[in-house]
Amino acid sequence: MAVAANSLENHWMPFTPNRHFKQEPRIIVEGKGVYFTNHRGEKLIDSVSGLYCTPCGHGRPEIAEAVYRQLQTLDYTPPFQYGSNLSFELARRVAALTPGDLNYVFFANSGSEAVDTAMKIALMYHRVRGQGQRTRFVSRERGYHGVNMGGLSLAGMVRNRESFGLTLGNVSHIRHTAIPENRFVRGEADKGAELADDLQRQVDLHGADTIAACIVEPVAGSTGILVPPKGYLKRLREICDRHGILLIFDEVICGFGRLGKAFAGQVYDVVPDIMTMAKAITNGAQPMGAVAASERIYKGVVDAAGDKAIEFFHGYTFSAHPAACAAALATIDIYEKEKLFDRAASLSSYFLDAVWSLRDIPIVTDIRGTGLIAGVDLAPREKPGVRGYQIIQDAFNSGLLLRVGTDTICLAPAFVSEKAHIDEMMDKLRKVLVAEAKRGLKPV
Ligand code: PLP
Repeated sequence: MAVAANSLENHWMPFTPNRHFKQEPRIIVEGKGVYFTNHRGEKLIDSVSGLYCTPCGHGRPEIAEAVYRQLQTLDYTPPFQYGSNLSFELARRVAALTPGDLNYVFFANSGSEAVDTAMKIALMYHRVRGQGQRTRFVSRERGYHGVNMGGLSLAGMVRNRESFGLTLGNVSHIRHTAIPENRFVRGEADKGAELADDLQRQVDLHGADTIAACIVEPVAGSTGILVPPKGYLKRLREICDRHGILLIFDEVICGFGRLGKAFAGQVYDVVPDIMTMAKAITNGAQPMGAVAASERIYKGVVDAAGDKAIEFFHGYTFSAHPAACAAALATIDIYEKEKLFDRAASLSSYFLDAVWSLRDIPIVTDIRGTGLIAGVDLAPREKPGVRGYQIIQDAFNSGLLLRVGTDTICLAPAFVSEKAHIDEMMDKLRKVLVAEAKRGLKPV
């Protein structure tokens, strides 16, 4: 039953200009396949899989039915000291998809929780080995690792950090990889692997034995799809290995096939020690995040504790919620049955060709992309973000749902998209961008 909103006032919306939104709302009332329907009854094509969450398309009955059945059978289990049958099976299925020996899965409810969990696992691992002085994290400018205090501190996004005035100490940021020489390069650029040597500089500055972990998104998502240069991630791995530093991949966006394989680590042939995931794990149908750790890390932590003693003082009331586990199992079934990761790989070049075709529009200043994900930078207008917000509104009014961060459009279609859907997204986007370019407002 659709519930009509009598007032928009009381919902304080996340990452949204609340006052403007409430004057001109953009409300979604239905999702089916690669389309949403808005509150005016208009169809919008979804160019970003919700928020990188729905590779299988919206409204999959298999997932809805699995959640419904689960809630009727077992709606909730306490996750501490007890377990439901589903979480063990889900951990097994996830472990079968992860690279290397990342076979131990800890459940959370979001990407942010997964990141903070990963940080605590890294700290705990070093502590039980007598290396509790390793408390520094090295992350990256333009990185995004969610909004909880740990992830916020790792993030290299100015507005997210400066708004609060407080972040954790002991975090160093190495440079991001979007260098001007690589503008409009498709996939991995030839130049830039040496940027990984910034990690070595942090080692030289702080001492290797103070650093717990280096955390990066294999492809940085939220700040505009920054694809790593060739060899960059391997170089990070080598430096970590040389100095006993753990490598954490934040695969919240890349994970579950976005780059054509289950995880980006498999695409770039680099196995991290710890990996976070969320979003597409349930095709967006239930909140869930997870952390996969290597055998060395799991056994290191678990074997260090005394008999019948809790090993890791961490967990959430909703860790491995039965309904989320049911959704994730049904989602992985769909990925496997429909071979959706292969489909993402085979649709990639058509998608990237289509995105690169926007290059001639005068306000487009860079395009980056790989797999089924791409970023399109726009020249800013009066100040950063004004043009981006305008584009979101124009697109919504033209039947296109877009993700725009500041002035960068992020595109990530569902893996079930047909070529005709990609064409429709790009046609609509081109019209919106050309109209905006014609407005002729001068950049500053
Ligand atoms: N890590 C990365 C790489 C992300 O892209 C995101 C969200 O976009 C997060 C963490 C946070 O996830 P959530 O919003 O589910 O907390």
